[in-house]
Amino acid sequence: MSARTPVPIKRRIGTANTPGSTRVMLLGSGELGKEVAIAFQRLGVEVVAVDRYRGAPAQQVAHRAYTIDMSDEDELIRIIRREQPDYVVPEIEAIATKALRLIQEEGTSTVIPTPLAVQLTMNREGIRRLAAEELGIATSPYAFAYSREEMKQAAAEVGLPCVVKPIMSSSGHGQTVVNSRDELDAAWDHAAADGRVNMQAVIVEGFVDFDFEITLLTVRAYGHQTGRDATYFCDPIGHRQQDGDYIASWQPQPMSPLALEKSQDIAAAITSSLGGHGIFGVELFVKGDEVIFSEVSPRPHDTGLVTMASQRFSEFELHARTVLGLPIDTTLLFPGASAVVKSPRAGKGVGFRGVADAMDIPGTDVRLFGKPAATVGRRLGVVVATGEDVHEALRKAQTAAKRIRVVS
Ligand code: AMP
Repeated sequence: MSARTPVPIKRRIGTANTPGSTRVMLLGSGELGKEVAIAFQRLGVEVVAVDRYRGAPAQQVAHRAYTIDMSDEDELIRIIRREQPDYVVPEIEAIATKALRLIQEEGTSTVIPTPLAVQLTMNREGIRRLAAEELGIATSPYAFAYSREEMKQAAAEVGLPCVVKPIMSSSGHGQTVVNSRDELDAAWDHAAADGRVNMQAVIVEGFVDFDFEITLLTVRAYGHQTGRDATYFCDPIGHRQQDGDYIASWQPQPMSPLALEKSQDIAAAITSSLGGHGIFGVELFVKGDEVIFSEVSPRPHDTGLVTMASQRFSEFELHARTVLGLPIDTTLLFPGASAVVKSPRAGKGVGFRGVADAMDIPGTDVRLFGKPAATVGRRLGVVVATGEDVHEALRKAQTAAKRIRVVS
């Protein structure tokens, strides 16, 4: 099926735990998957949650759970064939994409949004080459390197400062901003140690001196008005990163009409070439009216947790609706913000104090993810808040998040 072929829609939703159920298998069961699972549960869908460790957040709210290594092709095929889900919904990047292609070809399950989208976005090289070289979208200058020496050469070509990232990684893992040549060896070592799947390959990107960065949640879905596939945009989400990992987000991010138009054009081009139905988190850097593409996730995005407070339908509900071929409504109801709760300690079965104090701030809400084990810096919860404007919402979310203490 090419990216342009309309995606077939099933119009019947079955009842969970009966022979005619509509069944969804989540590959990855973190906090984003947990909200997707809840969105499907609300529509009576049977949810099977898969992760590499037992008791992952989405597994706690699913009908069934499997614990496997999802980069193992044989294991993945075995459980998909056993469960025969109508839809396979990836939530993480490190998945045996060959297995997804095979499963889609067998015809029993639809991979969301498409096997190709999952394959191209699991690897920074695939998506960067598609955006910059095939679609002609503006990106930072970049070069790929497959050895330490090549990386030094790449940095010389791209220029300093630059950012060195493992090609198989996300959320800042293994990433270093390099300001001088003598930092390059450490950047290579950091990438090699931290890349989720160590492929000994990095992308060297020119450092972009942006005014702000956004996630543009872009929804590709069946258009009920037209009977054809349609693209919808949520209001832009601004966010703040620390060590490459998101710590706060807000919606809407104010931006010029021209920058917004360019952002939507880029998001439409990249998502329509990836194809299928689903929500995509398109990450963009904005400077004045200029917009530079960074990357895209073919699934809900962590910075989009804010939509649980700000939108009529959260990004998780929208994702579930695209999968089931239901109408899409991206209306923003209130200016909103999110602030993460990270663990300052390691330990199993940690507790939380101060949740009541956090919720005491009007317009705030708290999600605790239920992760069985904490490590230092691991995201364990999030506060979402609404306000008169994004500044007020952000102040509330950050104040509330600070009130939550992770204890033993
Ligand atoms: P990534 O894992 O590629 O999403 O990067 C995480 C964060 O690092 C981004 O959200 C940016 O804040 C920052 N970052 C990544 N690449 C660049 C770049 N080329 N220039 C400046 N900042 C960057």
